[in-house]
This record gives sequence, C-alpha cells and structure tokens, in this order.
Amino acid sequence: MSELTYATSLYYKHSGRLDAGRFAFALAGGMTCAIAGATAFAYIEVYMPIIYGTFLLILGFGCALGWMNARLMKWARVRNLQVVGTSGFLIGFAALYWAWIIWFYAYIQRFVPPAGNPLAVVTPLKLLLHPVGMWMFLKLFYTVGPWTVFKDLHPTGIFLAFLWLLEAGVILGCAAAIPVRKIREIPFCENCRTWGQTRQILRTKVAPNAEIRQNMEQKKFEYLQTLGPPDDPDHWTHFSLQGCSACDTTQTLTVDRFQITYDPKTKKPKTSSKSILRHLRLTPEETVQVCTVAALVSAPISPTEPAKVVNVEVDSLGATQVPPEAS
Ligand SMILES: [Zn+2]
Repeated sequence: MSELTYATSLYYKHSGRLDAGRFAFALAGGMTCAIAGATAFAYIEVYMPIIYGTFLLILGFGCALGWMNARLMKWARVRNLQVVGTSGFLIGFAALYWAWIIWFYAYIQRFVPPAGNPLAVVTPLKLLLHPVGMWMFLKLFYTVGPWTVFKDLHPTGIFLAFLWLLEAGVILGCAAAIPVRKIREIPFCENCRTWGQTRQILRTKVAPNAEIRQNMEQKKFEYLQTLGPPDDPDHWTHFSLQGCSACDTTQTLTVDRFQITYDPKTKKPKTSSKSILRHLRLTPEETVQVCTVAALVSAPISPTEPAKVVNVEVDSLGATQVPPEAS
C-alpha cells in the first residue's frame, strides 16, 4: 500500500511497516520462550495422569503462544498483518517441533527400560540433528499407539494421525491467528509511533446497520441525535473511538450492536455483539464533532424540555459551535 492510499482511504489500514531491530529481537526472544514452554508442555503431556486433560493442555499451550506472540509483535511495532501471521506461525512451528522431540525423549525415559535397550542413548539433541530418526519414531507410534483410552483402546493409524494433526492445527492456528486478530484491532499512530487506545463514547438505540453505516461514512454525525439513548437496556448500538491518545492524526470510529439474551432455564445473561463498521477514519475536526454530538446525546434531558436535534458545526480551527436555541 502506498503512503497516499494509507492516508486517504475511508477506513484505517496498517501502513505495513515494522521496526526491524525490535522485530528481530522479538522473533529471537519468541523462539527462545516457545522452546522453553514446549519443553514444559511435552513433559506435562507425558507425565499427566489424566489423558483426557490433554486437549485442554494443548489448547492452553496454543493460547499462551498466541498471547506471547501478540505482545511481542506489539512491542516490535509490527504494522503488517502478513508479517505478524508468518512470525506467529514460525514460532508456533518451532514450539511444536521441539515439543515432539522432548515428547519422544520423555516417553522413552518414562516407559522404556534403559537396561540393554538401544533407545536409551536417544537425546533431544540427537533427535534434533536426525529428522530421519524422528520420522522412524513417528511411524513406530503410528503402528503401536502411545496411549490407552477407555481402558483398552489404543488410538493408532489414521485415527492417531488425525489427533496429531488436530494438535498441530490448534497450536499453529492459535500461535498465528491470535496475534493477527489482536494487532488488527489497534490503529497505530505513525506520527507519534505508538499504538492507539480505545475510548467508549456513546450508546444509542438500535437502527438498521446499513443506515448507520451510510450516515457515518458520509460523516453525518447529527444523525446520532435522531437515534437517541437506548430504550432497551439489553439491546443497543455502541460507538467507540480508537486512536492516538497524544494527537488527533490517527482517530477512527467503530460501531457495534450489542444484545443481552438470557438462558431460559438459568436466567444467566449472555452478551453478544455484531460489528457494524470498524475503524472509519476521522479527521481531527470530525473527531471533535462526533465527541460533541455524543456528549449531547448522552446528556440527561430535562423532563420539562423535549429533546431537540441540534446541528453541530466545527470551524476551521476544530472548535465546536453549537447554534443557540431559537427563542
Ligand atoms: Zn499520535
């Protein structure tokens, strides 16, 4: 994407840049932490007494990798989602491959008697340097099955391969997708070289999504006054700003629809949301304008005075002007 496209498109998009020095450091640090985590993960997997907890362990490990990758990519100021995803995948792959190596080693240590057994000389380093040996172990376990489930069932063959692929998919998927999802959600101010923050500004009644989107894209913020505050505490439209807290160069508007539903039996509330628009770019003047209208909509209305639609104007310096009431 060119600088011009980045600056003029209707919706915010990352610039595609990154801080090369920080990125290299983050990638190396991520690999080191992933390998340390994979060692602990593999030992827990081999020694865990409850085999059925394995899936939770795999999911937890994948989420921890994804969370770590997101923190690292944010620290490295990576504003390129392809780089974020690829880095996450590579760190996840390193973690997965090392976990396999440690798992074979720990399994042999635990279950294979060392006396007179040729497998007793296997070490993690030898397995790392001999992928062919890893492949032989894989084929051996594919045939005999390493676990027993439901008392006497040994998953082998295609079923075991499916479980291995599931494990790889969860770990690689979480390691790559979580950071992409998190970095995509935060605009970056190229002016201040910092990530943006979110400000909740307004809740209104619900309205057709297309209607809200059209008015916001055309920057008709006075439309928000026709919506007014929510009339249903369980169903509303939510407006928030994401942008730089130090300057007005990078400000964006996001609109979601929220709904709370209750379980018919337990009456437990469940909140769900649907995106109406994400990261609509705002100029400094438009940011002031939308904040002013939001304050007017949120302001308590006197019971003796009906709500009125007020046209808000912003002068060339960005100062807000609210026309006086007609007498
Ligand atoms: Zn800024």
